[in-house]
Amino acid sequence: MSWKLEELAGSEFQCQCGRIHQVPIKKIRLSKAALNWLEQDIPELGLAGTAVIVADETTFEIAGRQVEAVLGGAGIAVERVILRPRHSLTPSHWVLPDEHSLGEVLMKVPDNDGFLVAVGSGTINDITRFVSHKTRRPFISVGTAASMDGYASTVSALLTGSFKKTLPATYPTAIYVDPDILATAPQEMAAAGFGDLLGKSIALADWRLSHIINGEYYCPTIASIVEQVLAGAINDVSALSSGDPDALLRLTAGLILSGVAILMFRDSRPVSGAEHELAHFWEIRGLAHGRMFYHGDKVAIGTLLITEMYQRVLALKPETLDWERIYAARLPITQYKKMLQRDFAGAWEALYSPNWEESKMQELSRRTGELVIPNWDRIQQEVPKSLLPVDMIRKYLSALGLCQNPQDLGIEVEWIEASLRSGREMKPHRYTIMDLAAEMGCLERINREIVEEILS
Ligand SMILES: [Zn+2]
Ligand SMILES: [Zn+2]
Repeated sequence: MSWKLEELAGSEFQCQCGRIHQVPIKKIRLSKAALNWLEQDIPELGLAGTAVIVADETTFEIAGRQVEAVLGGAGIAVERVILRPRHSLTPSHWVLPDEHSLGEVLMKVPDNDGFLVAVGSGTINDITRFVSHKTRRPFISVGTAASMDGYASTVSALLTGSFKKTLPATYPTAIYVDPDILATAPQEMAAAGFGDLLGKSIALADWRLSHIINGEYYCPTIASIVEQVLAGAINDVSALSSGDPDALLRLTAGLILSGVAILMFRDSRPVSGAEHELAHFWEIRGLAHGRMFYHGDKVAIGTLLITEMYQRVLALKPETLDWERIYAARLPITQYKKMLQRDFAGAWEALYSPNWEESKMQELSRRTGELVIPNWDRIQQEVPKSLLPVDMIRKYLSALGLCQNPQDLGIEVEWIEASLRSGREMKPHRYTIMDLAAEMGCLERINREIVEEILS
């Protein structure tokens, strides 16, 4: 079955998994001249009052002006906020989702009514959806680049100081994407979008792994949506590398669909696993060193590293391991915590939750062998279904001009080593292959092999 965004928008259905899934985004329009629908849609969507357009200098030129003209033509009052970069990070032309940007948008939101229009990709949407959430005003999203899967997200990744924090926000009432606008964005943004989707191969594997080992809730319907997104992106590699606008539109549809999967699941579990934990870790390190990267570029490298990890863990024979020795060799919690404090540095305080110790103690006393040995055949059969061979991943990355050696991107060797040993604490409750490798006592050895392999 093929899932279509336009049909999923606004839907609610009883799923075979036993839950009711909802897609609260009312309209998703992906077509040439999609912005022309705004005039008809805005009253239908129940949006009224002044429209506050949020853009940066580039996205205002490629789409914001057009949005302003369409809304103005429909008799809707318009305010604009054009956010500008004010920082010394690299790249220096990126707008930051920080207190300053949030304040600028907040000051333009009218007192009693109105709605927001995000014109841009990741950062612009993060800022707008957070202000929309806090002021309880709806927002619509006009996509300008196929660079990330956050169009339909319900959280905002915001910066406070040099630390990125994920805070609750809200989804857009509607999303508009015009392929002619996407085609004006730099090719590297679409490559990053592809990288974000490539990560779904790991996210799905981690989710299935935890479903089998821990009995974590799993929905085959949502998994099939994410599988479709991944297969579609891979199918389009050559069309994307030549900048085909239809392929760009399909990529954007895949990215939005991935966000829809998050909305249906009410958590990012189906689309974000160990590869995203590594990407977020490098983001923290990057910010501390004044360097920013496209989210999808990091996810692509994370996918490569974690695929290497999967291959090595799945090659183990758990029934032949000396489990009592593995349990006895687990690092005591005080030492483990010291390692995390060193690796996360200033970010640890923000990540640390009061019940961390308690759940870590449970993990350290977990008799993983009893969970893994009887399930190993099933793990071998079901978990790798979405995984891709390493040489295929490398082929895709090279076709799209994505980095294969993290150092070429500016990710240092020490960051990679630290992320592989401590990155699983980015989301301690999300069980991934990194957790299993640690519980099986082989994380350290596998990490050394991966670093050697990746940097050779
Ligand atoms: Zn379901
Ligand atoms: Zn992502």
